Amino acid sequence: MTDFSQIFVGGQWRAGGGGLADSIDPADGSLVARHGVASVADVDEAVAAGHRAAADAEWRGMLPHVRARLLHRIGDAIEAQAEEIAALQTADTGKTLGETRALALSAAGTFRYTAAALETLDDALTTPRGPFMTMSVHEPIGVVGAITPWNSPIASDAQKVAPALAAGNAVILKPAEWTSLVSLKFARIVEAAGLPAGLLSVLPGPGATVGDAIVRHPGVGKISFTGGTVTGKRIAAIAGEKLMPVSLELGGKSPTIVFPDADIDHAIAGIMFGIFSSSGQSCIAGSRLFVHRSIHDAFLARLVERTQALRVGRGTQSGTQVAPLVHFAHRDKVAAYVEAAQADGARIMCGGSAPRGAGYDDGAYYLPTIIAGADHASAICQEEVFGPVLVAIPFDDEDHLVAQANDSVYGLACGIWTRDFARAYALARRIAAGTVWINTYKQFSISTPFGGVKESGMGREKGREGIRAYMQQKSLYWGLDPQPLPWANG
Ligand code: NAD
Repeated sequence: MTDFSQIFVGGQWRAGGGGLADSIDPADGSLVARHGVASVADVDEAVAAGHRAAADAEWRGMLPHVRARLLHRIGDAIEAQAEEIAALQTADTGKTLGETRALALSAAGTFRYTAAALETLDDALTTPRGPFMTMSVHEPIGVVGAITPWNSPIASDAQKVAPALAAGNAVILKPAEWTSLVSLKFARIVEAAGLPAGLLSVLPGPGATVGDAIVRHPGVGKISFTGGTVTGKRIAAIAGEKLMPVSLELGGKSPTIVFPDADIDHAIAGIMFGIFSSSGQSCIAGSRLFVHRSIHDAFLARLVERTQALRVGRGTQSGTQVAPLVHFAHRDKVAAYVEAAQADGARIMCGGSAPRGAGYDDGAYYLPTIIAGADHASAICQEEVFGPVLVAIPFDDEDHLVAQANDSVYGLACGIWTRDFARAYALARRIAAGTVWINTYKQFSISTPFGGVKESGMGREKGREGIRAYMQQKSLYWGLDPQPLPWANG
């Protein structure tokens, strides 16, 4: 059993300056573990240790294929412990075991892909413009801060830590308050795989103190943040003052669009997966459903019937499709959104409350909910609910559809369901979003860049370029002219 009472500061396991906090299983409110919490002084120490480790000649000079071997070892170790990680993450977040297993394996895959990409990244000679040879090389930033949210801990940790280490940096990882356990377990795995001390610190703690201290620290040269838009904007403002690069993966209110010629079975399965898997606690959840008016009522009737048959239960129970939300406070926030929509005149087609009865009453459950008749300007259509709540909206013509789909401060993802590929392509290019899925939804590939537009964020993660996001370029000029520079000789 992992000891969660200690935090990982500059290569040392020890009590955090912030004391201990409880991690609660949202399936029944029971205590999973008490874990250590960092203080601002711990941040100072982690950053200092990170600088020493990042400057170490062995780490700086480590050849890419050697560093790649280390990343492979981390990936292998995560895979070997995937079951343990999954069980821990299910207890911490409530998610189904199927999902947390997939997240653990995806984290392993992220380390392996990053290792492979690292071995093939080239620095470039640039075209000479004089009697000199020019070259562009990439160097680490130094110490970077990685701040992650509660919805997919191990996967989002890996998505930041793997490329940051590949690029040669030290990383300070701050997990979300509700879900710190897996990140502490991840630190144990990384340490055992042989990462030199000081290159990774894991500092659980409140965003307002520990997170803020990481962002403001003069020794931190980049922040990679995934979380809410309000927090992202605050971090961007501080980064602006420091002139520090920042990448922000923020919220979404993604449209899913169904045309009459779509394969309806595929569309229904994709839409349900897009909004109700992870109990809707997904930045890319397809939470606004636009259905062509000619099929709207019949489509919605089938969707409601299928949604009512979803199995709601504990994440550990085999067959569960909709597990509890991450926390009781979050469940209450989701419920308040639905109540406000109802008060605004929208119709609840299914769900709209917490399930009742033995097995549900002690947990943070909420029924998968479909809402119709909402005004597109209302909160339920504009704000990120981050729960199992879908709003359905009919559309008539494509220009109006595009205007409504893009009528959002967010621009993270979009789904299009049609058999007409030319129409899908043209529409995909008109939608303001970082990712568009056509006849599928919520599928991910580590080789494909991910990020948002507008208030869904800036910068991209994943892909070969994902490692470059943690590096800075330097240009080298070699003089080759046999003559001295002419100016001084006048
Ligand atoms: P959040 O913004 O409240 O917290 C995210 C992280 O930021 C946590 O670790 C938190 O402690 C930290 N934090 C909070 N205040 C801070 C501050 N002032 N300075 C520094 N750090 C601070 O978000 P959340 O509620 O944990 O997560 C849900 C949000 O994350 C949703 O909006 C969701 O859409 C978004 N999200 C986005 C993506 C994506 O890739 N685009 C992925 C997952 C989640």
